[in-house]
Amino acid sequence: MIFDTHIHFNDERIYQDFDKYFSEAIKLGVNRFLCIGYDLESSKLAINLAEKHKEIYAAIGVIPTEHKQYVLKEEGKTSTIDEIRSLAKTSKKVISIGEIGLDYYWENAPEIKEKQKIMFKEQIELANELNLPISIHCRNAIQDCYNVLKENKVKKTGIMHCYSGSKEMAKEFEKLGYKIAFGGVLTFKNSKDSKETLLNIKKESIVFETDAPYLAPTPYRGKMNEPKYICETIKYAAEMLNLTYEEMQNISFKNSLEILNIKYE
Ligand SMILES: [Zn+2]
Repeated sequence: MIFDTHIHFNDERIYQDFDKYFSEAIKLGVNRFLCIGYDLESSKLAINLAEKHKEIYAAIGVIPTEHKQYVLKEEGKTSTIDEIRSLAKTSKKVISIGEIGLDYYWENAPEIKEKQKIMFKEQIELANELNLPISIHCRNAIQDCYNVLKENKVKKTGIMHCYSGSKEMAKEFEKLGYKIAFGGVLTFKNSKDSKETLLNIKKESIVFETDAPYLAPTPYRGKMNEPKYICETIKYAAEMLNLTYEEMQNISFKNSLEILNIKYE
């Protein structure tokens, strides 16, 4: 049993051939997926897919890089957070708010950083209101991300998606109650931080993801990532930790259910 805690079935590249990608992954034992929204449209699509398939759950929210289309509460019009709240109430399969966070990789002007922080906090507030965990996207902003999470307690915590910080910071997120998600990057030759993190955190903190169509693991690096490739990442991690493939699956599956507050049924 495998849980992909971060996948974009709602991305056009996968969505156009959804049946194929979905069934191929199921055949290899990937039987639970958290389909992640990154704006309102993709969040709606994540909900549609979750409503149709018992294996799929939805996370909804706006990614920090989409700051231009995000209308803050204080702006007085129909705010984006109101739209996310309404969407969340349309389906019981919405089990997380995400992907939300901070991303200073593409743009890092002070006013953009500031807006991203407000977006992040508004969506954290909503997660707390709905009693849901969050799915965190954090790029080139690890310290700020940590500060926001430390100062704005998320009741149900959540998952650090595609975690790319140091092992020391990973332990700090672990202390706050967050799980650390490992994807294709773990299998890259030069991914020292990701490997060290895996070796240094508790097994109870490990979950896996594809982030498909992004970041395919070795030996598919550079190609479009596919849902079934999560098996390569889990095998790789199992070997690093001297566990069997099955043990690694079971540990991470249990961790995924726990952090997302769902039962396997
Ligand atoms: Zn993503």
